[in-house]
Amino acid sequence: MSSVDLHSVGLTYPNGTVGLDSVDLRIADGEFVALVGPSGSGKTTLLRTIAGFLAPTTGLIRIGDSVVADAVTNVPPERRQLGMVFQQHAVWPHWNVGRNIEYPLKLAKVPRAERQDRVAAVMKLVGLEGFAARNPTTLSGGQRQRVALARALVGDPQVLLLDEALSALDEPLRDALRLELQSLTRSIGLTVVHVTHDRDEALALADRVVVLDQGRIQQIASPPELVSHPASALVARFMADATLFEGTIKSAGFQASGHPCAVGYDVLDTRSGAGKAGTLAVLPEDVRLHADVDGAAVVTSSLFGRSGNDVIVNWAGVPVRCRVTGRRPLVGERMTVTIGRALFYPSGSLAVREPAPG
Ligand code: ADP
Repeated sequence: MSSVDLHSVGLTYPNGTVGLDSVDLRIADGEFVALVGPSGSGKTTLLRTIAGFLAPTTGLIRIGDSVVADAVTNVPPERRQLGMVFQQHAVWPHWNVGRNIEYPLKLAKVPRAERQDRVAAVMKLVGLEGFAARNPTTLSGGQRQRVALARALVGDPQVLLLDEALSALDEPLRDALRLELQSLTRSIGLTVVHVTHDRDEALALADRVVVLDQGRIQQIASPPELVSHPASALVARFMADATLFEGTIKSAGFQASGHPCAVGYDVLDTRSGAGKAGTLAVLPEDVRLHADVDGAAVVTSSLFGRSGNDVIVNWAGVPVRCRVTGRRPLVGERMTVTIGRALFYPSGSLAVREPAPG
C-alpha cells in the first residue's frame, strides 16, 4: 500500500482545454478518497493522470516514495503497481473466471504455483470461491464486477483506482457491493481513489471527499464536514442541494436582490462586513416551513424520504429545497419560509463562513 502525492499538477489537453489546474492532493497510505464534481470537472482526467495514461503538463506525482511523473519522468501505467476497475467490467468472455483473474500475474511472469495460490486467495476475498471454471458470460453484472475487482487486486497493488466502478449496477446489488467494497478495502488497508458521479456513494464510502470543478479542487473534507460546512456556494449546491440567493450584507443582515429572502445576523456569520455582495447558501435542513394561507411560498413537489420529506417550494420565483420532518406538506399548499441557518460567501471568495451558534 502507498500514499499518493500530487504537487501543483496541471494538465492541458492538446486542443487547449484545461483538464487540471494546479491540483495539490496528498492521499495517505490506506486512505479511501472519492473524487466528485459536475460532469467535465476533471475527475477522469485526474484519475487517468494518477494511473499514467495521461502525462501532467506541470507538477509532480509521487506514489509511495517514487516520483512517477514530473517534467522529465512519466512511468507507464503497467509499472505503477496499480489496480484499476472501470464502469464496464472489462472481463474477457472467452476465458474462464480463473484465467481472467490470473492474467496480470502471467503478464508479470509470476511462477505458476504462486499464481494459483494468489488467484484462489483473491477469489475468496471478493466472494467468488468456486467460480474459477465459470464462463464470465454466465455471471451476473455484480459477479462480473467482482471478477474485475479480483483481477485488480491479485497483483497486490499499491493503490486501487476505481472509475465509476459501481455505476453500471442496479440497486440493491450496487448497495451490497458498495458495502463489501468498503469493508474489503478497509480490512486490507488499501489506498483507494474512487471516481463517482454519485454524491451519496462518495459520502458513504470515503474517508475524505475531493470536490472538483473546472479542473480545480474546490474542497477536500470528511463527509460530515463537507455537508455541514461547504467551502463555497458551488459545493453547497452540488453536495447538499443548497438553495443559493445573490444579494448583499446590509445593516440588518443579508438581503437578497429582487427577492424577499432576508436573513438576520443571528443566523449568519457575524464577520460578514456590511456592504459586501455575495451568495447566500441555505441547506435543505435549515429551511423551516409553516403552513399559512397568506404565505409567500407554494409547495411544488413533496416526496417522502427516509430521513425527512424532500420538499420544494416556489418562493417568489425561486425553487427552495427543504427537508421537512413530521407531516408531509401537500403540493399546492401555501407556506411561510423561515431560515434557521445560512452560509454567506462574499463574491470572489472560497473561504467558508462559520455560522453563528444555534
Ligand atoms: P469528468 O470526468 O469530471 O466528467 P473529464 O476529466 O472527463 O471530466 O474532463 C475535464 C475537462 O477536460 C472537460 O472540459 C473535458 O471536456 C476535457 N477533456 C477530457 N478529455 C479530453 C480530450 N481527450 N481532449 C480535450 N479535452 C478533453
